[in-house]
Amino acid sequence: LAKKSNQFHFVYYQQEMEEKTLWRLGMIRQLRTDFAEKRLELWYQPQLNLNTGKVIGAEALLRWKTADGNFISPAIFIPLAEYSGLIIDIGDWVINKACSTIKSLESNGFGHVGISVNVSIPQFKKDNFVDNVIQATKTHKIPPNKLELEITENILMDEPQVVVDALVKLKKEGISIALDDFGTGYSSMSYLQQLPLDRLKVDRSFITHIAEPGKAIIAETIINLGKQMNLTVIAEGIEEVAQQEYLKGLGCDEVQGFFYAKPMPENEFLTFLKNNS
Ligand code: C2E
Ligand code: MG
Ligand code: MG
Ligand code: MG
Repeated sequence: LAKKSNQFHFVYYQQEMEEKTLWRLGMIRQLRTDFAEKRLELWYQPQLNLNTGKVIGAEALLRWKTADGNFISPAIFIPLAEYSGLIIDIGDWVINKACSTIKSLESNGFGHVGISVNVSIPQFKKDNFVDNVIQATKTHKIPPNKLELEITENILMDEPQVVVDALVKLKKEGISIALDDFGTGYSSMSYLQQLPLDRLKVDRSFITHIAEPGKAIIAETIINLGKQMNLTVIAEGIEEVAQQEYLKGLGCDEVQGFFYAKPMPENEFLTFLKNNS
């Protein structure tokens, strides 16, 4: 009986796998078409100095609006873009789009505002990645330090030395580097120390319960680590005033979260800037 039921479960499992594979292939095909038809947008979520309340920058976040008007979450399509290799062209588009936004902010009098873009592992594995990023800052004639690359610890999982070398080169050109989602992934402290970082981003999971008794210890430890490494510390996912006040007490430098603003199209970000600086 046991054997029979195992067999049944296996067949069922296999069917489920096939459905999932087909779904995935369909999504990838749709993503490829929609990217080619320019249906991907880059939205911006403001980042503020915690002491002054002024906007100091924004994180660029991809938005995919399909032809039928629905938004598909990056949490769903970024893994598919990585798996299919589409992330190479999409990522290149994101970097150039961010650079053009930096330029346009500058010409509107916001030359101090920086833009961060998320970068995936497959992008780093292309050997022209570093040159392409440098070229983008030159093409758009922007100060390289206004462009920040957000990497995660997981980027060090294989070939950490290749990644470290690439980041050191980018840093030499003046491009800024942030460590995203810190504390949630794989990390080797020894490589971490070799990364030429400017900012440390404290993941939302450590911020959510920060104002509850006994729940701040991880956030506090990460903030202290960042400060001792001479990095600017930014907390993400602030949704309530109590979290903001707690972070002020811990000496956190910068904040990003729905409490201040959700990600928005470029023109709305420009208006937000005009009202908040
Ligand atoms: P991430 O880099 O950690 O980005 C922060 C995510 O948290 C964003 O989700 C943002 O909308 C969300 N968020 C910000 N503040 C709050 C808050 O107060 N509450 C809540 N509940 N959420 C908040 P989003 O836009 O859905 O992006 C998800 C992930 O997709 C990003 O996480 C990033 O890993 C990836 N992603 C987005 N755009 C790109 C891109 O251009 N390239 C790559 N490689 N990955 C991207
Ligand atoms: Mg990010
Ligand atoms: Mg993050
Ligand atoms: Mg995150």
